[in-house]
Amino acid sequence: MCRAVFCLLMKKAFLALLACLLFPCSALHAQGKTDIYILGKDKGSVSSMQANGITLLDARATTKKLGGSVELYAAAKQIKVAFPGMYAILSAPLAEAIVNAQTVKLPAEVVASGSRIYVPAQFFMLPQVQKALDRQITFENNALVVEKNFTLAFTDKEQKPSYDRLRFFRKGNISFTSKQKNKHTVEVVFPSVVLKRNTSLRLKDDFIRSFTLSQRGKDAVLKVILGKNGKNWRFTEENGELVFACAEKTLPAVSSASSPAVATEAPGEREDMTPSIFADAEEDAKASVPVIKPAPQPVMKSGEPVLTAKRKLRIVIDPGHGGKDPGATRRGSSQEKALNLTVSKHLYNYLKDQGFEVKMTRDKDVFVTLAGRSKMANDFKADLFISVHTNAAKRAAANGFEVYFRSDKATDAEAAEVAAFENEALQYEEAHYSFVDMLLESMAKNEFMNESSKLAGHIRNYVYKEPGIGIAVRQNNAIRQANFYVLRGVKSPAVLVEMGYISSSKDRARLNNKAAQKRMGQGIGKGIVSYLKAEGKISK
Ligand SMILES: [Zn+2]
Repeated sequence: MCRAVFCLLMKKAFLALLACLLFPCSALHAQGKTDIYILGKDKGSVSSMQANGITLLDARATTKKLGGSVELYAAAKQIKVAFPGMYAILSAPLAEAIVNAQTVKLPAEVVASGSRIYVPAQFFMLPQVQKALDRQITFENNALVVEKNFTLAFTDKEQKPSYDRLRFFRKGNISFTSKQKNKHTVEVVFPSVVLKRNTSLRLKDDFIRSFTLSQRGKDAVLKVILGKNGKNWRFTEENGELVFACAEKTLPAVSSASSPAVATEAPGEREDMTPSIFADAEEDAKASVPVIKPAPQPVMKSGEPVLTAKRKLRIVIDPGHGGKDPGATRRGSSQEKALNLTVSKHLYNYLKDQGFEVKMTRDKDVFVTLAGRSKMANDFKADLFISVHTNAAKRAAANGFEVYFRSDKATDAEAAEVAAFENEALQYEEAHYSFVDMLLESMAKNEFMNESSKLAGHIRNYVYKEPGIGIAVRQNNAIRQANFYVLRGVKSPAVLVEMGYISSSKDRARLNNKAAQKRMGQGIGKGIVSYLKAEGKISK
């Protein structure tokens, strides 16, 4: 439980604030401001910082300026960003975002600083974000620029001894009118066309001297300055492109079949962004498409005494807290993070001996984000996920072993309170969980809630049966439902074990007892094996 850690984090946040007031923040990070322009309007600036040449933006402020909504879990160093029809979860210090339940790589790590979460500017340029907003988003000269999806852009020039051509990408039907304004100037007007950016280029040629393509109010205007030999010109559609051609005598043929290879691909959408990032992201997205798990196959062999799983089942053990996050603490006891790790190691050894593939989200005293924990489980393709914690309560009499599985509603107020603490986000009540969470969990929810409740039952029974633990296991209320963040987003049956109350002197003595710790690990392990047998996932 995390009452203690919450206080600690508040204290830390306060000290960080104090440090920032006493010493310039720029000494800690190269911090600054980045402007936001939306449809040509200056929308002010947001805090930003630099990391290895990449600009990171204050995720909350930027999202709000773009019209999205956020849920900030400052203590968990996590932010959820939602735009119409899409959501993303970003956690420090991961160089990735979970976008619509799929992993997308980012060019730099998400950074938590004070109460802010900074994300690489590229996050806001992801195709998913641009699509959700139906906007073109670019990052130029330390400004995030949001524009309408552009429809016209200069792509290429072609300079030949007998003619010049200018090529333009256009999307959809664009009408235009062209006319010679004077001897050397031709103007083409595109009514109600939004340009991605203004372009001007000097060809310094005798056919075309230069041109500018610029926004004039709601219209786009192409202005071409002709050279001394630019006597004939034509502006037409050729093979899907718009082409301005100019020659002295005969204009080049309309067909561009023999023209040199130029970028025939639409230059829009992606070209100005970092292509590699998005290529990776798309590959990743494909790779992480959730796999539909086959229904457990009944094992035909019976009476076989040894475990013969069809394939090695994978179990992830998640020792709660770690590193800078000690979890619950009490005088005269190891910290929660240490107790959790010790018992998790016993559980790990027990399950390894049984022939399972087992992974721990941490095997030493390090900090792992909540999202990082579920991600590890999903990457490992875990069949089961067991989070190990130690409880605490203000009421000194509170004691006993409990096992939780997630649900939409906590079974009682107390369970909800436990969940709130474990979520390290006291200030966010369940009501604040937005549709994005529901979306994220929607697949796993129905599929695994039932499984998780069964798993909880087996663990409860075997911890109860295991001798030498000495912590009460109450048959009527040892199983609880709550909305733990760590269990959300895990694509497998998942439970959170609260081994006992560090705040109870009786439980505390047992939690710190080496023999009882080993028994606890074994009891949980036996419960897991019993569940898998009962579900036909391993032989009886
Ligand atoms: Zn805990």
